[in-house]
Order: sequence, then C-alpha cells, then structure tokens
Amino acid sequence: MTRWLVATTNRGKLREILPLLAGVPIELITLADLPAVEPPVETGRTFADNARLKAEFYARHSGLVTIAEDSGLEVDALGGAPGVHSARFGGDEATYPEKFSLLYRMLDEAGVADRTARFVCAVAVARGEKTVFETRGTIEGQIAPEPKGAGGFGYDPIFFYPPFGMTLAEAGEKKSAVSHRGEAFRNVRRWIEAGSSA
Ligand code: IMP
Repeated sequence: MTRWLVATTNRGKLREILPLLAGVPIELITLADLPAVEPPVETGRTFADNARLKAEFYARHSGLVTIAEDSGLEVDALGGAPGVHSARFGGDEATYPEKFSLLYRMLDEAGVADRTARFVCAVAVARGEKTVFETRGTIEGQIAPEPKGAGGFGYDPIFFYPPFGMTLAEAGEKKSAVSHRGEAFRNVRRWIEAGSSA
C-alpha cells in the first residue's frame, strides 16, 4: 500500500486527523515514525502559506507524499489574533492557562463587547517539490466567559460553540463533526477517494 506522511507532532491534532482519514487506501505514517528533523520556521502570513510550507518541506525531506495542516484561532475583536501565531501566543513557554489569561486581558483592554471567533484549519498535500491539493475548514463560535471542559486540546476550553451550547473541550467525540479540522480533512478524504491523488 502507498505510504503517505501526516506531518505533525501535535498529539491533539493527530488524535483528530487519523480517525478522519481512517479507511483511506493509503498507509499513513506520522513524523514520529521517521528520524527527527528540525521543523521549518513557519514564516507564512496565512494558514495556507504555512500549510504549504510544511507540506513541501516534509515531502522533500521524506520523499513521501505529505499532508500538513496549519491551524489557529482568530478573534474578531483582536483583529484576527492570535491567528497564525496561536501556538506561540504569549511566548514559546506559555502554558494554555497563561495564553487564556493573556487573551482575556487583551479582550478587556480592547473594550469591545464582540466575542466572536473562529478556528481555521488549512491543509496542503505535497508531492516532491509541489503542493498538489489544498483545502480549508472553519468553525464559527465565541470566546467563552471562562475556560470550561477538559477534553480536546489547545484553545478548546475557551471556544464556545453556540449550536452545542458548550465549549469544544466539553464536546468530546462530537467536535470533529463540526470542527475546522473535520471539515478540512473530510475534503482531503473526498479528494483521495475521487482518485485525484493517484
Ligand atoms: P500550528 O498549526 O502548529 O501552528 O499550531 C496551531 C495552534 O492553534 C495549536 O497549537 C493550538 O494552539 C491552536 N489550535 C489549532 N486547532 C485547534 C483546535 O482544534 N482546538 C484548539 N486549539 C487549536
């Protein structure tokens, strides 16, 4: 069976991505299955730029068709921040509770009542030097008044999803049915199943 690389070391992301691609006629390996390599610097200005950059970097490095994603949280009252800087928001060493406090402080300082926000997930698939497929998914919600829930990862405890009446950290298995990553990887699955990947 053809082997492809899912190029992330983020365990929260992998826990969601692998079930979304389960059953595709491709053997999926992850970066944990390959010798460690220094990750590329994510210099892109958009999620799509960074997804392409990672997919092409790891495809070149591994010689395998590579699926990469770049994702993050956009808060409207903060002009779309933390956006592509979501992982490093508040500094490389900042814990998620620290990131949440910083975000709440910035929202207070912005003095805007609007708490709308979205998660975005851009995916790129690269073969050799070239990106051969791109897609994205989004989920619209609000910044919760306070963190809630112990599931999911990253900013899930502060992302309130109105149709569920709870944060994504409280949504459990239901998250992928509505999430940015769920939407994007269902598109990847359809593309693979349509044979466009051959
Ligand atoms: P990157 O794509 O590796 O640059 O990092 C994306 C960052 O965005 C993650 O480390 C999380 O902080 C955040 N993020 C992306 N997707 C999600 C999600 O589904 N839930 C919560 N946080 C997310």
